[in-house]
Amino acid sequence: MHLTFLGGCETVTGSKFLLETETTRVLVDCGMFQGYKWLRRRNWQPLPLGIQHVDAIVLTHAHLDHSGFIPVLYKHGFRGPVYTHPATIGLCSLLWPDSGKLQEEDAKYYHRHQLSRHQNPEPLYDQAMAEEALQLLQPVDFKKTFHVGDITFTLYPMGHILGAACVVAEHGGLRIGFSGDVGRPNDILMMPPEPMPPVDVLLLESTYGNQRHSPEEPWQQLTDIVNEAAADGGALLIPSFAVGRAQLLQHMLVTLMAQRKIPRMPIFLDSPMAIKASGVYCNYHEFHRLSAAQCIAAEEQVIFTPSVEESKSIAAQRGPHIIIAGSGMATGGRILHHFKHWLADYRTTVLFAGHQAGGTRGAKMVQGVERIKVHGDWIPLKAKIRRLNGLSGHADYAEIGDWLKQSKLPADLKVYLVHGEPDALEAMSDYLSQTTSYDVHIADYMGVLHF
Ligand SMILES: [Zn+2]
Repeated sequence: MHLTFLGGCETVTGSKFLLETETTRVLVDCGMFQGYKWLRRRNWQPLPLGIQHVDAIVLTHAHLDHSGFIPVLYKHGFRGPVYTHPATIGLCSLLWPDSGKLQEEDAKYYHRHQLSRHQNPEPLYDQAMAEEALQLLQPVDFKKTFHVGDITFTLYPMGHILGAACVVAEHGGLRIGFSGDVGRPNDILMMPPEPMPPVDVLLLESTYGNQRHSPEEPWQQLTDIVNEAAADGGALLIPSFAVGRAQLLQHMLVTLMAQRKIPRMPIFLDSPMAIKASGVYCNYHEFHRLSAAQCIAAEEQVIFTPSVEESKSIAAQRGPHIIIAGSGMATGGRILHHFKHWLADYRTTVLFAGHQAGGTRGAKMVQGVERIKVHGDWIPLKAKIRRLNGLSGHADYAEIGDWLKQSKLPADLKVYLVHGEPDALEAMSDYLSQTTSYDVHIADYMGVLHF
């Protein structure tokens, strides 16, 4: 068996691992490269090793850094099955078309502003192509073994986001595990990752290889922030990712109101994609910690504003109220309209509840800039900026260490570290070398292993 690392090496994006036997070729994950321009450029290079001709793709979870390149293979003629958990299919059905639409908008923007070297900059794929590619998705339940040629596969639940799995591939008595993204033991919304079954080789994610999560209690932090914002009498604006984070925030706010720890006030979910994602989370409630009743409670108490008219009508709201809207790093989306309306008002609070990547509007606001540009206008930032820590969906290195201990792994396990920035990979390698007897390596981009 051969394994080729086609992405997710020394970066947290572009996860793609090609598994080959004499007769079978399968891609585990097919993510887009994101972030730095030199990384994104890889999305445009000729497809390596003819990966559009694989027999099938096995997908760990819906995040675009794991799934977002599948429509590109579809565009190049790939028509094989993409095996994944049914909840992941529900989430890809939202994320891929949205990704196509954003790429169309970017291409138009580059064209309009003459920012591209190309006369007519093309999107990587458009919304229509992304929607067509969805037909390739084939549902597979957790712990149900399936075959592609002479390789057998099984998915095991990993917490992280709805539907997320690790993949175990077996051929000729050798078992290779692909961790995908590993969730956290005490996630408020998701179940803890299940122990890994015995494998000989493990590709392990290392996003937080050099960081421990904040020990601060997110429930108490959120209680304090909302009470302070309510006392100020203004709007509480929460930029949020549509999938996972928005559902978690709704649940926490509705629960705190029911417990009378924060005052009752209107909560608006002003994101068409987050509204649809909330529906998917409700449909698959057996795969996370919330009961059907808790999902319904959140739906009943949160005001959904899918249409543009409904979204605009929120501006008439007076007194304390909460608006959850995309995007999570305030780089686009409806939150910008609310920013224009409220940032210059000292009664407003903005709460960032996720990681803010360098260079984004969110990162600048957290750093404390005095003015911020929104839709071409510089707006004075009078609002209070707050952060809610501890909601990450990724296990940190110590939590990964605990998960490995619970798993039935051999003492001489071969570990290849993937899905991490260089510092995180190095630190994870040091940590595992000190705490385990595993044979630990950092995976090389385009590197090939022979078993
Ligand atoms: Zn993920």
